[in-house]
Amino acid sequence: MKVLKFGGTSVANAKNISQVKDIVGQTPGDQLVVVVSALGGITDLLLKTADLAASQDKGYQAILKDIEDRHIKAIQELIPIASQSKVLSKVKSELNILETLLEGAYLIGEITPKLSDKIVSFGELLSSYIISEFFIISQLDAVYKDSRELIKTNNNYGKGIVNFEVTNNNCQTYFNQSKHRITVLGGFIASSTQGNSTTLGRGGSDYTAAIISGILNAETLEIWTDVSGMYTANPKIVKQAVAIPHISYEEAMELSHFGAKVLYPPTIQPVLAKGISIHIKNTFEPKAPGTLITENRNGSGKSVRGISHVENMALISLEGPGMVGIPGISKRFFEVLSEANISVVFITQASSEHSICVGIPAVDAEKAVTVINETFEYEIFRGKIKSVKAETDLAIIALVGDNMKSHQGLSGKMFSTLGKNNVNIRAIAQGASERNISAVIKKEDVKKALNALHEEFFEENVKQLNLFVMGVGNVGSKFLHQIQQQKKYLKENLKLNIRVIGISNSRTMFFDESGIPLRNWEDLLVSGAKADKSKFYDQVQKLNFRNSIFVDNTASLEVSKTYSDYLQNSISVVTCNKIACSSEYENYAELKNLARKYNAPFLFETNVGAGLPILDTLKNLIASGDKVLKIQAVLSGSLNFVFNNFNDRVTFHDVVKQAQEQGYTEPDPKIDLSGIDVMRKILILARESGNRLAMDEIENKSFLPEESLAAINNDDFFTSLTKYEESFQALYKHAADKDSKLKYVAQFDEGKASVGLQEIPKGHDFYNLEGSDNIVLFYTERYPNQPMIIKGAGAGAEVTASGIFADIIRIGNF
Ligand code: ADP
Ligand code: ASP
Ligand code: MG
Repeated sequence: MKVLKFGGTSVANAKNISQVKDIVGQTPGDQLVVVVSALGGITDLLLKTADLAASQDKGYQAILKDIEDRHIKAIQELIPIASQSKVLSKVKSELNILETLLEGAYLIGEITPKLSDKIVSFGELLSSYIISEFFIISQLDAVYKDSRELIKTNNNYGKGIVNFEVTNNNCQTYFNQSKHRITVLGGFIASSTQGNSTTLGRGGSDYTAAIISGILNAETLEIWTDVSGMYTANPKIVKQAVAIPHISYEEAMELSHFGAKVLYPPTIQPVLAKGISIHIKNTFEPKAPGTLITENRNGSGKSVRGISHVENMALISLEGPGMVGIPGISKRFFEVLSEANISVVFITQASSEHSICVGIPAVDAEKAVTVINETFEYEIFRGKIKSVKAETDLAIIALVGDNMKSHQGLSGKMFSTLGKNNVNIRAIAQGASERNISAVIKKEDVKKALNALHEEFFEENVKQLNLFVMGVGNVGSKFLHQIQQQKKYLKENLKLNIRVIGISNSRTMFFDESGIPLRNWEDLLVSGAKADKSKFYDQVQKLNFRNSIFVDNTASLEVSKTYSDYLQNSISVVTCNKIACSSEYENYAELKNLARKYNAPFLFETNVGAGLPILDTLKNLIASGDKVLKIQAVLSGSLNFVFNNFNDRVTFHDVVKQAQEQGYTEPDPKIDLSGIDVMRKILILARESGNRLAMDEIENKSFLPEESLAAINNDDFFTSLTKYEESFQALYKHAADKDSKLKYVAQFDEGKASVGLQEIPKGHDFYNLEGSDNIVLFYTERYPNQPMIIKGAGAGAEVTASGIFADIIRIGNF
């Protein structure tokens, strides 16, 4: 004997019901009980008609018409025309009764829980009748039975308490005499001893099936639904969740208690007592193995089995200075909640007994506050207890697993994962069985928290990084290209799954929550909304993804001003824009401080030497206890290019022009030639070495004539270069005569920084610096005479993009 239950989606329409018939038809066994839900969504619609009618809103009629249409359509598609009239007339007469009930509610303008149950019971009544007729017509040996005649409850409308004695008798008597192989029952509905329709609570069809299984000693209970089992987290929210092959009754119970809707929590009890296994299966993928729930799960020793969550929770805390002295306070507190029919999902009590805090469904919050404040009116009046308030818009998130008690450090891992992602925790509880750890968080953080925890506990290896990229010009477009090329490698080798969620240039911005396909980002970006830095930030914040990184590939002051917003939301910042780190010292220090405080890396390796690992090396030297004594460097790829190509056969003007055209200078070449760019870089190196230095403290011995420095645009600037050609040639000749080369050198020594053109003699470390290469010499306590040298290509879009990429990977490994 087997019991098969099919949920709302499984019987939502004729096509799905046909699929159900195939599954039932292929199930072996001499006796089957098939329990069905209402057609998907009908229960909600029935409750809505009741609500509207009770508030005297005629809108209920249109919904009633929808309900009618869906049932008639199912009949017309399932039952051959010749046999339709009997089924249609029975269904229409039931719908007429429903209409009369709703009219009554509309006229009176009120609905009682008793009438609500009566109205809502039509969903399962109609579905089970239509399905049984379809089975019979399809040559299955089936019969319809009104489950209200079998399952008896008390008068607790909305969630009747089952009278097992009477129900047991009814079922034994009925099934003993039944001559049919298949019995079709409506789930969820029952009746009181007085014969009124009752229901077993939302999602209660699972419970009906479990009650029948327990009474009839079924060999197994199959729950057929729209997902392939009980998943490691709700698969609608966590894309990476997977079906759990085997799980214990207790784990399933905890997961469903904390919101895994795939199983209605009371379902376990009747089958657990008899040791009947539950098999959760997917109606739309019958071959998938699904989840088996039994007493002894085939545990692989995994500590956390699944993660659940309940949305729409409220927290209520009872606290006050006099609480310890009041006897029986917890008893009264929980009694009053129970009398008001409010289920408590979550409890914590401070060990000092100064407060009790409970999590309850948000819909009950107002009622709870009223009854609690009434109960403790005297104590509140005497100032021993504070009057309670409800905190709403919360959710509970729970880790569940039988083996959790034997693993240390799980709660630490849970809370640090949440903390890293800026998810604030309002309350924490650990079940006495140590089978769950639960935390109350803000509802808006649920998606992020679930995904971050899932990644931590189930995807051990792969970490997802979500990028928001501003600036897709020279560097940015190369960066996107590199990500596209390396995506597969990073996933397989570094276990990093990099997704670009948002991109923007100065004209438009574009977002795709599931990751922008990088093959055609350019077209997508053009189709995006008008670019707006603050709207871009709002969107990043609203999406609230875990491991979010903002990447700035612009040279914009305005963009650099938004870093603090990102960091304060635990969103990491990676930038090749030098403005922030070379701005006022306070701003630089504040950004570093925010990064520490909010656990969000702020990385800018490409600010100095493009893709060369200069800042990272410096950071490692300092972290390991070394101290920087002196820095000497050639830090401008642009200036190096210019002086490597300048001689007495070309003009200075032409060389600078060529550098500009080949992308070796900033769009405004004066920024490079005046030394400002190099000043910024030595400033950043000095600051990262632990010195408090400002831009105006750096000495700049410029080789440019006053007139060039004062040029207001590129044309004027180039004209002035031609005008002073002779002085540039003189610089060249002076050096060449001494067999020296001109290099633009930055230096930091004894707290003082300077930049300027120098004549470098043969044999010096800088002499052979080619093309646009950079070089840095770090003289430190550990490298006092022979400096630590870093040398290589220090400019160009490709290497800069790869430097940004390296920062992203650093964050991935963080
Ligand atoms: P039915 O109508 O078949 O009873 P339900 O809607 O009641 O189906 O339950 C199935 C749904 O439960 C899934 O579609 C999914 O959205 C939700 N769900 C929540 N948590 C989980 C989980 N851990 N595993 C599987 N499904 C879950
Ligand atoms: N139809 C009912 C509901 O939607 C019962 C069920 O489907 O389990 O709550
Ligand atoms: Mg359900």
